[in-house]
Amino acid sequence: MKKWEENIRRVTPYVPGEQPKRADVVKLNTNENPYPPSPKVAEALRQMQTEPMRKYPDPEAKLLVEAIARMETHAMQNCAFSDDSVCAGDVIDHSLADSECITPGQIFVGVGSDDVLAMIFLTFFNSEKPILFPDITYSFYDVWADMLRIPYVRQPLNDAFEIESKDYEKENGGVIFPNPNAPTGALLPLDTVEDILRHNSDVIVVVDEAYIDFGGITSVGLLKKYDNLIVVKTFSKSRSMAGMRIGYAVASEELIRYLNDVKYSFNSYTMNQTAIALGTAAAEDPVYFEETRRKIMATRERAKDELAKLGFSFQNSQANFLFVTHRSVPAAELFAALKEEGIYVRYFNKPRIDNYLRITIGTDEEMERLYAFLRVYPGIEC
Ligand code: PMP
Repeated sequence: MKKWEENIRRVTPYVPGEQPKRADVVKLNTNENPYPPSPKVAEALRQMQTEPMRKYPDPEAKLLVEAIARMETHAMQNCAFSDDSVCAGDVIDHSLADSECITPGQIFVGVGSDDVLAMIFLTFFNSEKPILFPDITYSFYDVWADMLRIPYVRQPLNDAFEIESKDYEKENGGVIFPNPNAPTGALLPLDTVEDILRHNSDVIVVVDEAYIDFGGITSVGLLKKYDNLIVVKTFSKSRSMAGMRIGYAVASEELIRYLNDVKYSFNSYTMNQTAIALGTAAAEDPVYFEETRRKIMATRERAKDELAKLGFSFQNSQANFLFVTHRSVPAAELFAALKEEGIYVRYFNKPRIDNYLRITIGTDEEMERLYAFLRVYPGIEC
């Protein structure tokens, strides 16, 4: 071994889901949205000029940050996101007073919520005490913690794969969990999130809401009461823009300032001009957002019925995926058979979940292809 090899920061990287090259694939493996982004995004793309690209983008990504602040304010005022919510306001109000809003100073944007989360780990998880997160959860958390040498202790989900809030009452250096959780899709009621916040007033609590728009109630409203809360969201799922890489955090202006200090110590220009322009356009189309998220939720509820009939069981997911296990056919076998058929789902060969498949909710037609294959698969009896 060469001397310098001793000093390499060796990491075991996160493994993203496969992006197959074949065009005929039914792609239900990476929780993307099957519908295209808002038509306003296509229009903004047509309007883009190449001349401004010669210059660096706005390091503050002000247009996008302001659009997200308005979008969050709009959501808080008009849409009580719940199973049967109605989003009353179709148009984002540009004239709201700061006092009744989420302000632009409360928004931090990054290259997907992965970038935002990595910055949060770096900025706020800096204690000798371990941070806490569930044992079955987004598999990037332990990768960042390992890379940044942040101590952590995984808190086991209960046998029903639910987060137990009492597990987060011990001394710690910070708390993070997705809501709904991934890959289970299980949603924590807002009361339980608040319970966790109440018991952790001395540390930063991060709620990763990548999938909140598919039936959950956001914790953003709790920011008024808890200045140690950071809510993280993304344009990758409910806004159909995984390829543009736009994520953001909502928190107190003070916490956002700390995050920006760290960001500017790394890379001032995280958001490119295209992401800023197209993200802004998406944020300003609440009607399209509402339509697509509702379509996905409706398809998901039908998928629950179909898959239950076929002998699968699963959490009552409130995300754009189902985490399923079959009573007789092993998940690993089914994963391989589905892939062979050109239907890609996600399989995690990990303790406790190695007999489960995570199936992203696609269009109704895509889901029909899945059911059709499963109905005749040996061992899956209806
Ligand atoms: N959080 C969770 C729980 C996720 O599943 C994902 C998607 N892989 C992300 C964050 C990151 O999403 P993105 O970087 O596309 O915003």
